[in-house]
Amino acid sequence: MVLYKGGVPHKIKINNSIAPEVRQLKELTTYGLGGGAEIYFPKNLYEAKSAYSVALSHGSPPLVLGNGSDILAADGGCMREIICTKKLTGIVRVADDRLFCLAGTKVSTLLNYCRLRGLGGLEYLVNIPATIGGIAYMNGGAAGKYIGENVVSVTLYNGKTVKLSNYACHYSYKHSTMRDINAIILSILLKVDVSERSVVEERIKEFSRRRRNLPKGKSCGCVFKNPAGDYAARLIEKAGLKGRRIGGAFVSDEHANFIINDGGSASDVFRLISLVREEVKLRFGVTLEEEVIYFGDFER
Ligand SMILES: Cc1cc2nc3c(=O)[nH]c(=O)nc-3n(C[C@H](O)[C@H](O)[C@H](O)COP(=O)(O)OP(=O)(O)OC[C@H]3O[C@@H](n4cnc5c(N)ncnc54)[C@H](O)[C@@H]3O)c2cc1C
Repeated sequence: MVLYKGGVPHKIKINNSIAPEVRQLKELTTYGLGGGAEIYFPKNLYEAKSAYSVALSHGSPPLVLGNGSDILAADGGCMREIICTKKLTGIVRVADDRLFCLAGTKVSTLLNYCRLRGLGGLEYLVNIPATIGGIAYMNGGAAGKYIGENVVSVTLYNGKTVKLSNYACHYSYKHSTMRDINAIILSILLKVDVSERSVVEERIKEFSRRRRNLPKGKSCGCVFKNPAGDYAARLIEKAGLKGRRIGGAFVSDEHANFIINDGGSASDVFRLISLVREEVKLRFGVTLEEEVIYFGDFER
């Protein structure tokens, strides 16, 4: 199969052996935190399925890591084996308005592909530092638009290959069927609009402008989901928590739902998340639910 990898089309190579590498999760997460873990880096669908099956045979289903932009990984690392999709990349235009994407394809690569070909409908994803697999898993999005609107189907593997239609993904706010099961998303079929390059470029610029005030620094984006009818950031700000610090972690002054790692540890970030949750509960009786995903063990 010929795939787009942000440049030259190439063919998938089939390889018969795959083994994990010991790597530091701090190298693979946007928080820049986390200790060691055994991680597979499959480069194609065959290797991804092999890695999943090998990890399963070692006792438990592996965790899956995309671009690590929603992960807080423990300082002590992670005992479960992990499959990282960063090398599982590629895009094929299978119809005028349909794109097949391997799960590890970066959102930035996909948007560039769309921009060059005048394909619209995904511009709202601009500057989200994620893979398509991660976005499809989390039902990520921005400006009131979510990837569930663009997903036609998702193909995953959990010992056998399963294709889920959009309906079967049961997309809702920051949720999908994939969050309820152990599986690796291998690929996603996306719906796009045939448009013009200049129009797509303008829309990308517009969505990008709306994000210009988001905090800089190492983070996972929003730590908490928004509670029904409200905003986590509003509650955290109202509780007077902007700027609150534990060790090297602090609540952003620009956006209260961002906790920034300023040279701290995963334990600092975790303790600050717990503090924010408790204070908001105390002040407003609202239990905030984390959007961030934990890899490894944290003391609660
Ligand atoms: C600066 C910044 C800004 C952000 N802005 C936004 C935003 O505007 N909107 C938004 O929705 N999010 C935002 N995020 C959060 C994050 O980018 C999203 O949650 C994104 O969906 C995570 O994708 P990822 O590839 O990094 O996945 P990871 O963080 O690596 O993983 C997230 C979850 O998805 C699972 N997962 C990932 N890939 C697969 C796969 N192939 N198969 C099965 N499970 C998988 C992981 O196991 C984990 O549970 C932001 C993050 C940062 C750091």
